[in-house]
Amino acid sequence: MRPSILTLCLAVAFAAGCTPEQAPPPADGSASTPSAEPGTDLSEPDAAMRADAFSYAEPDSVRIKDLALALDVDFDARELSGSATYTLDWVDPEAGRLVLDTRDLSIEKVVGERPDGKWDDLTFVLADPDERLGSKLTIAAPERNPRIRVTYKTSPEASGLQWLTPAMTEGGKAPFMFSQSQQIHARSWVPLQDTPQVRFTYTAHVTAPKDAMVLMSADNDPKAVRDGDYEFTMPQPIPSYLLAIAAGDLVFKPVGERSGVWAEPAAIDKSVEEFADTEKMIEVTEKLYGPYRWGRYDMLVLPPSFPYGGMENPRLSFITPTVIVGDKSLVSLIAHELAHSWSGNLVTFATPKDQWLNEGMTSYVENRIVEDLYGKDLADMEYLIARNELRKTIGDMPPQGQALAIRPDVKVTAKDPLTEVAYDKGAWFLAFLESRFGREDFDTFLRGYFDHFAFQSIPTTTFIDYARENLLDKHPGKVSEAELDEWIYGTGIPASAPEVKSPLLEKVDAARTAWLADGTLPAKAVTDAWSTQEWLHFLDGMPATLETAQLVALDEAYAFTGTANGEVAMRWYPLAVRSGYTQANDAAAAFLEKIGRRKLIMPTYAELVKTPEGLKLAETTFARARPGYHPITTASVEHLIEEAKSPGTAKDGPVD
Ligand SMILES: [Zn+2]
Repeated sequence: MRPSILTLCLAVAFAAGCTPEQAPPPADGSASTPSAEPGTDLSEPDAAMRADAFSYAEPDSVRIKDLALALDVDFDARELSGSATYTLDWVDPEAGRLVLDTRDLSIEKVVGERPDGKWDDLTFVLADPDERLGSKLTIAAPERNPRIRVTYKTSPEASGLQWLTPAMTEGGKAPFMFSQSQQIHARSWVPLQDTPQVRFTYTAHVTAPKDAMVLMSADNDPKAVRDGDYEFTMPQPIPSYLLAIAAGDLVFKPVGERSGVWAEPAAIDKSVEEFADTEKMIEVTEKLYGPYRWGRYDMLVLPPSFPYGGMENPRLSFITPTVIVGDKSLVSLIAHELAHSWSGNLVTFATPKDQWLNEGMTSYVENRIVEDLYGKDLADMEYLIARNELRKTIGDMPPQGQALAIRPDVKVTAKDPLTEVAYDKGAWFLAFLESRFGREDFDTFLRGYFDHFAFQSIPTTTFIDYARENLLDKHPGKVSEAELDEWIYGTGIPASAPEVKSPLLEKVDAARTAWLADGTLPAKAVTDAWSTQEWLHFLDGMPATLETAQLVALDEAYAFTGTANGEVAMRWYPLAVRSGYTQANDAAAAFLEKIGRRKLIMPTYAELVKTPEGLKLAETTFARARPGYHPITTASVEHLIEEAKSPGTAKDGPVD
C-alpha cells in the first residue's frame, strides 16, 4: 500500500492482525476477542507467527489452500452474492472445525464435500460482531471435509467495497465498484482466514451487467470481451489482503510487453502517458532482485475516491488518479506498488505488527528504482522529504509506534496502535544496512532474501535471524547486534541513521529563507524548472503560519489555491487554514469534496476542526463529500470530527 510519497500513512496499517488464542468457541457462539492471553509464551519458536490478533482463524488446525469464488455483481443492490469454496489442508488430524473471519456478511448455507463426492449441509455459528474484527464464523466439520462451500452475500455497507454511482465516476455514465482488502477488509466480501499467514491460490467466476468490465488480482486478459461473464485464475498463492475485484466502464491500453493500464475511457490516455516507464521499472527491479514472478503487471486507475495512493494487488495494482499530474513527477508511486511484487506480495509479513517488512522494504526498493530510472537527485529528494516529515512527527508518537516492530514477547491486541513509521524508518534502516555493508553485498543479501522466502509469510524475528546469518556474521564488524536491535525495536531515529544531502533542496531552502526575510520570491526561470518535490519542500519548510499578505503573494505568484496537484494541496490548505486565510476556503472545500485519498485530505480536515468556524466548514464539506467517499475515508473523517466536538468520546479510530 502507499499512502504517500511521504510518511503519512495511517496508523492504518494496522487494521489488521493479531493473535487469536486457540480456545474452542463458546457454546453459545458468542465472539471471543482474539488476543494473546496472559501467559501465552510468545517467545516460543514460531509463536510470533501465530500472533495475529486481527483474525479469528486457526491456521495451526486447518488452512485454506485454494479458493473458488462464484460471484454476481449487483450494482443496484450494492451487493456481491454467490459462494466461496475452499480446498482445505487439515494440518491437525484432530481438528473438527473451520473458523473464518467475516464482517457484515449474510451467510446462507454451508456445505462440505464427502469422500464420495457428495455434499452435506454443515452446521455453523455466526457470532455477534466485534466492532473491529467482525463476526467469527465457526463451521463444524468433524469429518474434516476436503472442500467446504459457503453461500453468502455482502452488505451494501461492506467495509472493503466501494459502490459508486455513475455521477461519481469520470465518465459519468456507468456505475463502478472496487475493493480494498488491506488490512482486514477482505472478510467483508469473502468469508476467509483473513490473516497474511494463510496463502491460497484462487479462481473466480464472476457475472455482472453486460456493459461492466470485471477485473481481479489475477490473470486479467487485456483482450477480454465485455459480456458480463468472466473467469479468473490466480495460480500463485496469496494472502487474503491481496484479494481484489473491480467492475465498471474500464478499457485497456498497453504500456509495454507485459504491462498496461486499465482505466475509464476518459482517463486512459493520460494514464498511459504518465505510466509509460512501467516496463523499464520492471526491468530495473528484475536486474536488482530477480525475476518478476507474477506474469503480467497491469495498473487499474481508480476514481479519485480511492482512499490510498496505491494498492499492490498482485498482477493489477490499484492506483489513485491523484498521481497523474502530467510530468511523471509522482510515478514513484508506481515504483512502490511494483516493488511490492517482491517485498510484500512475494515475501509477506506474518502479522500486521511486522508491517515494516512489507512497507519499509518496499519504500527502499522504490527509491532504488527511482534512482536507477530518474537519477540520484530525485531519489535523494524523495528520501529527504520523507525523512524530514518523519523527524517532525516521530517524537509525538507513542513509544511503541516509533519502533519498526514490537518485540515478540510483548503482547499485542487488536486495539494497540501500531507503527506509523513502517515506511520511512523501515526504508531508512535498509539504507543504513546498505551504507555499512556496501551496495554490492547488500543487494546480494536482499536478492537472496526474496528468493529464500518466496511465497512465504514471515515475522520480523525470521528476518533478523536471516540478516544475522547472511549479513552480520558473513561480514563481521560492520553492524553490531545492538545497532540492529536499536533500529528494529528502538524509538526515535537512531544516531547511526545515514544522512543524504540534496543540493537541489538546499537551493529551495535558500529561496524560501530569502523570501521570508525580505519578500523576494525566487525568479520565475528558477521555479519554472522546479519539480513537484521542490515545490513540496518549499512548502514543507514554511513556518506554521504566514501573514495574509504573504499568502496572497504566494498565490499571485504560484496559484497554490486551486492547484491540481494533490501533494501541493495537502500542504497548502492546512497552512492556509492555520493562518486564517479564508480566501482559500472554497477551493479547500472543493478539493476535499473531489478527492477521497486519505493522505491528501486528512491534514486539511485536521486543521479545520481546530476552530469552531473551521469545524463548521469541515462538517458541511464532509456532508457533501460523504456519498463519494470510500468507507475507510468516511470512518477517518467521522472520527476526527467526533473527537473535535467531544474529545475522548469518539469510538476507537478506524481500523483499516
Ligand atoms: Zn506499500
